Amino acid sequence: MKKINKINISLTIILFCFGIVYGQNEGSEFLIHNIIQKKTDSIYDSLVNIRRHFHEYPELSAQELKTSKFIEKYLSSLGLEVKTNIGGYGVIGILKSGNSGKRIAWRTDIDALKTNFEEIVDYKSKTEGVRHICGHDVHTTIGLGMANVLASLKANLNGTVYFIFQPAEEINKGAKSMINDGLFDIISPDEIYSLHVNPMPVGAVSAKANEVYAYVKVIKITFKNQDTSTDKIQFAKDILLKQMNIESDSKFWNYQNLGDPEIGLSNRQSIYQNYLIVDQNFKIEENESEISLEAYLTGTSKTKLDSLLQKVKSQIIDSDFKNQLVSVGFTNEYQTVKNDPILTEKSLAIISRIYGEQSVSPIYGVVPNFNDDFSNYQKKIPGVYFFLGASNFQKGFIAMPHSPNFAVDEECIKTGVKYFSSMVVERLNSR
Ligand SMILES: [Zn+2]
Ligand SMILES: [Zn+2]
Repeated sequence: MKKINKINISLTIILFCFGIVYGQNEGSEFLIHNIIQKKTDSIYDSLVNIRRHFHEYPELSAQELKTSKFIEKYLSSLGLEVKTNIGGYGVIGILKSGNSGKRIAWRTDIDALKTNFEEIVDYKSKTEGVRHICGHDVHTTIGLGMANVLASLKANLNGTVYFIFQPAEEINKGAKSMINDGLFDIISPDEIYSLHVNPMPVGAVSAKANEVYAYVKVIKITFKNQDTSTDKIQFAKDILLKQMNIESDSKFWNYQNLGDPEIGLSNRQSIYQNYLIVDQNFKIEENESEISLEAYLTGTSKTKLDSLLQKVKSQIIDSDFKNQLVSVGFTNEYQTVKNDPILTEKSLAIISRIYGEQSVSPIYGVVPNFNDDFSNYQKKIPGVYFFLGASNFQKGFIAMPHSPNFAVDEECIKTGVKYFSSMVVERLNSR
């Protein structure tokens, strides 16, 4: 999960109230899921140790040498076919059941990032200035745990499971480099899934059909620098600011409201469903011949963002600054994670059926200011990106990625391995 700009949402706390009901369903259909739960419980302590190891030895994006070696060794010990050094330090583990069935990929990101925020846990990072503050140590552990659980059930599975351990997510490069390095020549999944820890309480999982994060584009408006007047820059700023559909006194701006049951992400009437906002940290650059204005645009509709280019251009052409305009264009853009609606519904239904409906929460709003390069896989393969609750408010753990006091309740490793192992098993069986 990459933070896109500087707006501080570290105080975001998503307050839901969930519990987990295990084994409430009877019948042979659920036997394999009972085994999944028991197996997960039996390896849980070892998974916590693995997670703490990753936490103590974090590696920056594109430098995940030791992490990838650890993953390779672990997957090999489970008997999986393992491919390494895909698009950098990417690792793939292939679990073939030998029976016919679907091919399902589970993607995990493995990199850490630079931060000087003080750790609040005992097992602190031993690498100065580098830390797993986005929870990818937890993701990696869940991926390994799922590989362990599913490998132990190999004879009872159908189809093939691919475990993708992806480097360099934080710099928006890892997914692309694995794909460019032939990922989909090596594996051919029918469906692909991934998760990110989030500030919901541990035990909860959620996903949203279609856009999960907002689209982000950087617009640049360049004028001739013929005089010292800054009117044209102000004019361009005003045009951009007028495109916003969120009032300046809106509750939207207090990102704690992302977790509000009435207006937050989980409500059908969420105020985070249809927005276009302009970051007012404008960047102005100037040389002898040209002066330019750059701004981050964030929005839930790609079409609306794209159409802005022409809108801005025609308003300048209709103004006194017509002859000073050099160009209007996007200098950077981020695709968003876009979940397949049918798979979202089906996968959440599986988890709800096996683990109880309290374990699943739908999401209707779109999260501003973050993104994930999982979007690159979804352009090729239908898939779902889940949020996994990792907070424990009683213990003081708030799993808000990139925030100074980021901490997870490690119980989320257990729920992650159980829920998603079960989900994968059912998707392998699906027609
Ligand atoms: Zn991140
Ligand atoms: Zn992340």
